[in-house]
Amino acid sequence: MRPKVDRIARPWGDRAPYGRGEAWPVRVDSYLEPGTTADAVERWVPTASLLHSNGDAMEVAVAHDRIVGVRGRPADRVNHGRLGPKDLFGWQANHAKDRLTTPLLRDGGRLVPCGWDTAMDRIADRTRELLDESGPGAIGFYTTGQLFLEEYYTLAVIARAGIGTNHLDGNTRLCTATAAEALKETFGCDGQPASYTDIDHADVIALFGHNMAETQPVLWMRVLDRLAGPDPPRLVCVDPRPTPVACRAAVHLAPRAGTNVALLDALLHEIIRTGRIDRDFVDAHTVGFEELAERVADTTPDWAARICDVPTRKITEAAEILGGAERLLSTVLQGVYQSHQATAAACQVNNLQLVRGMLGRPGCGVLQMNGQPSAENTRECGANGDLPGFRNWENDTHVEDLARIWNVDPSRIPHYAPPTPAMQIFRYAEQGSLHMLWITGTNPLVSLPDLHRIREILGQARLFTVVQDLYLTETAQLADVVLPAATWAEKTGTLTNADRTVHLCEKAVDPPGEARPDLDILLDYARRMDFRDTDDRPLIGWHDAESAFEAWQECSRGRPCDYTGITYDRLRDAGGIQWPCTEAAPDGTERLYTDGISWAAPDDCETYGRDLLTGAAVSETEYRALNPDGKAVLKAAEYVPPHERTDETFPLQLITGRTLYHFHTRTKTARTPQLNAAAPEVWVEVSAAEALRHDVAEGDLVEVTSPRGSVRGRLRITGIRDGMVFLPFHYGYWDTPEGHRPGTNGGRAANETTVTDWDPVSKQPLFKTAAARLTLVEHGDGTGSPAPTTTASAPADPRHIPPTAGGPAAVAGQSGGEP
Ligand code: SF4
Repeated sequence: MRPKVDRIARPWGDRAPYGRGEAWPVRVDSYLEPGTTADAVERWVPTASLLHSNGDAMEVAVAHDRIVGVRGRPADRVNHGRLGPKDLFGWQANHAKDRLTTPLLRDGGRLVPCGWDTAMDRIADRTRELLDESGPGAIGFYTTGQLFLEEYYTLAVIARAGIGTNHLDGNTRLCTATAAEALKETFGCDGQPASYTDIDHADVIALFGHNMAETQPVLWMRVLDRLAGPDPPRLVCVDPRPTPVACRAAVHLAPRAGTNVALLDALLHEIIRTGRIDRDFVDAHTVGFEELAERVADTTPDWAARICDVPTRKITEAAEILGGAERLLSTVLQGVYQSHQATAAACQVNNLQLVRGMLGRPGCGVLQMNGQPSAENTRECGANGDLPGFRNWENDTHVEDLARIWNVDPSRIPHYAPPTPAMQIFRYAEQGSLHMLWITGTNPLVSLPDLHRIREILGQARLFTVVQDLYLTETAQLADVVLPAATWAEKTGTLTNADRTVHLCEKAVDPPGEARPDLDILLDYARRMDFRDTDDRPLIGWHDAESAFEAWQECSRGRPCDYTGITYDRLRDAGGIQWPCTEAAPDGTERLYTDGISWAAPDDCETYGRDLLTGAAVSETEYRALNPDGKAVLKAAEYVPPHERTDETFPLQLITGRTLYHFHTRTKTARTPQLNAAAPEVWVEVSAAEALRHDVAEGDLVEVTSPRGSVRGRLRITGIRDGMVFLPFHYGYWDTPEGHRPGTNGGRAANETTVTDWDPVSKQPLFKTAAARLTLVEHGDGTGSPAPTTTASAPADPRHIPPTAGGPAAVAGQSGGEP
């Protein structure tokens, strides 16, 4: 038995070293609330984690109809028993005293409690009025990456075939839209090519803008255990901050924000120049190599070094490692996705894998990562700006197929234009053509860019807003109707993680008060609206999570994300199963494209693609000419500088991001004592040189101002690159006197400063390429900033700064996997 560990102070726990090609040893992590012993646990209920995209399999401990702790599931393919800090402690947010327990209705300017019938009738009545007055385009839905598959699918059928609106998207637009788009552009279709097990086989792992240690801590434990074992992989890290990943990398490249395409073009240049390409693979499985080679012919390391402000030597060193890898795994996340050339850069990572022939074999592939637990499901189910089952909205056969499954006329499914992305939905609300917005499980008043504008949009009297959530979030405070939702462990459904692993999350306890599962709320709405199919039968024929899952299985049949071989019973027995899972692949599919590219043919593909520079759509005819045989497309990209440049007034590059201890807009993690104590307040990060230039010191109260707004926080001096300022984006206002907006103490939400702008291809907003200035508000009293010391925000000079620790309340068990 290993000793217990403070998992706030040591987020990744102890090591269980293993060698290349070996099985990752099991280590079971567990936490029970103080005073509860294992004997007191009445039942353990299987589920998977909610506070990131990794899909860690766990069990919830229940005593006296209350959750009292969790433990990892040792046999599961994803985590082999391990849990991260948010898995271990985050469930306590379910017990928060301020959970919503009854619907609320705006009356005389105030939100007052009402019954479910009153709230739901109000929503259904307003829907009917708007359908009569303005048609389906007046109604929009903005969902999350945190519901279950069954809920997204139901929402997609309601929006697309019930209402007939094109305006349905998720907050996954902010975090995973580029992952989906990059896979579509390269492989013709969404679907994660690689598997987490590729970490066990890779000799080089390249992480592009992916602080895996903080965003997927359990996946990082797998990497750490390989690093501690024989024949460890070499890491290449691209990140402007000194992340835990950077600290372990053989080469760390810290480019200027917004220069990823230049860097990647230089890496491709070097790999092609030195002949490190797999010509047979390129010829057999790709199109576009000649254009790519031409595009990068002049993008030398010297050229990129000037743009990225990275030493030429480091770029060639990185190219040497990538070019010499026998088994190369690349991963990509927000450092790439939240910038102005997001899809262009993510596609260059795909290109890197393809020209090296690193696909479809153990240790070879790309993980275009997700941010949220069920981001993958929004994409599959069509709740994020795609049609369900990765169908192509421009392909009439695909739309007819969907219409057949739903038994509606194809004309009921809007396909006159691409599904509307989130930023455009909010624009329609701003302009006044969208009159009703139903927001489920997300908090745009903290998470969308340019918050002043979002507050104005959601504050309009002419916009009827429904918010379905666990708490009275900043967004809920402005709603016309608030619906109290049940959360994870209070309802049943499935989550699919970033490597296509499906887990069943079972209900463990009842939700508080009158709170209801999101699925029940949506089914109730569908009943009240009386949506019908062509034969006058109810459009939605399912009544609970399992029957919704079965309906989805039919929709997924024959598609890349085929779930027909997965049942609730199989998930109960086997734990996580990766799609596609069919009669031909009954145990699921570890990695895609083992026998070539399968879904890029013009009749099968999910999209004909877009121009990476402008976002202009490629026509069907052009795509047929380019890729008649359905190969992977090597899409070249030219570097263009960020739209907002630094100048004398705003001399710093501003990037926003995450910390290990919080998730999203902190609604759950701020209600978890151990997590909140580790990162209790917003902070501001700059380098020591930048602090000197601004005459500020650790702990000083400073203000970061952009052309949109400002944020105040205590300064942390770190090893971040010079010329840059970092703000964590999690902090909003619900726990301040003002409730949903800044008060006299200045802004707290990083998105006060970010810009209304997006990647032209994925429509993902930019959170990492803005300009800002830093000013002193008042000197500190010698106390350090509230930033954690265990993460990328570690102080450059740790003396005099107390290390982040959780104390006795954060001590968790870990057993097995001893070296
Ligand atoms: S914090 Fe951002 S990146 Fe992470 S899950 Fe939320 S929206 Fe996605």
